[in-house]
Amino acid sequence: MNAILHPQMHLHQVDLKPKDYKTDTPSFWCAGCGHHGILTGLLRALSEIGVDPNFLVSISGIGCSSRLPYFVNSYKMHTLHGRAGPVATGVQLARPDLAVVVTGGDGDGFSIGGGHMPHLARKNINMTYILMDNHIYGLTKGQYSPTSRQEMKTTTTPYGGVEEPLNPVLYMLTYGASYVAQAFAGNVKLASQLIKEGMEHKGFAFINLLSQCPSFNEIDTAQAIKSACDQMDANHDISDLNAAMNAVNMAKQAGRIPSGLLYKTERPTLDQRMAELVERVGGHKDYDLRKIIDLARP
Ligand code: SF4
Ligand code: MG
Repeated sequence: MNAILHPQMHLHQVDLKPKDYKTDTPSFWCAGCGHHGILTGLLRALSEIGVDPNFLVSISGIGCSSRLPYFVNSYKMHTLHGRAGPVATGVQLARPDLAVVVTGGDGDGFSIGGGHMPHLARKNINMTYILMDNHIYGLTKGQYSPTSRQEMKTTTTPYGGVEEPLNPVLYMLTYGASYVAQAFAGNVKLASQLIKEGMEHKGFAFINLLSQCPSFNEIDTAQAIKSACDQMDANHDISDLNAAMNAVNMAKQAGRIPSGLLYKTERPTLDQRMAELVERVGGHKDYDLRKIIDLARP
């Protein structure tokens, strides 16, 4: 093990192959499920960064996608439905030296856990959140999700849906995520690159990976997602929030999927702010709660 501090995570870098990050547990998703590609992308990213598995925590909620931590050589928590974000927040604040990766589905993240998402973004929690977005609830056999296309017929919408789908990247841009990216799960090279950059980013990195569910979503097939993806323009300014939002809005109206890094900015993370606060009030030993509250007032 080399004692090299990784610039974003206080990690000792190791020299491991992607397969070394895979547990012996078979990835028991259906054949053809897009989530296989996301796992491959994550394993490659971990290998390229050289993340020490002893300093890696993989956290999920509930759903097909939330099985992912079982397949990754790391510490892991398979939490309650929709609660991966808050649990990951606690882990990250208690141990800012760890690399924290959250994985979950569109239902888990934006329906059951939807109330948490704005706060992960605005607080700039230093973690990587990978949304495995297949526009359906797969584990419970095909119900309409918050990202399902309006016309989609599912077990809960036998005549088609009547709701406008939520756009996860637009949502995250709106609420202040400091790194926002999107790709087709089957584009493993791009997915892996975006995950790597997201993990290297200091702050809340949100990566929407559009994944196919061949068992319960007949509309968003791998081919359909792939052919709807447009690589972001090479001249796109990733520091321009309005440009990112415009690109997403225009693509949405055209039924297209902007693919690549949409937005990135640097600002202090919550753990940095808290460390500064503790420093200001004289350290942990003799802190005065009233003083902390007074200092925290705007
Ligand atoms: Fe993947 Fe769908 Fe099967 Fe779940 S039900 S493992 S999301 S293909
Ligand atoms: Mg889903």
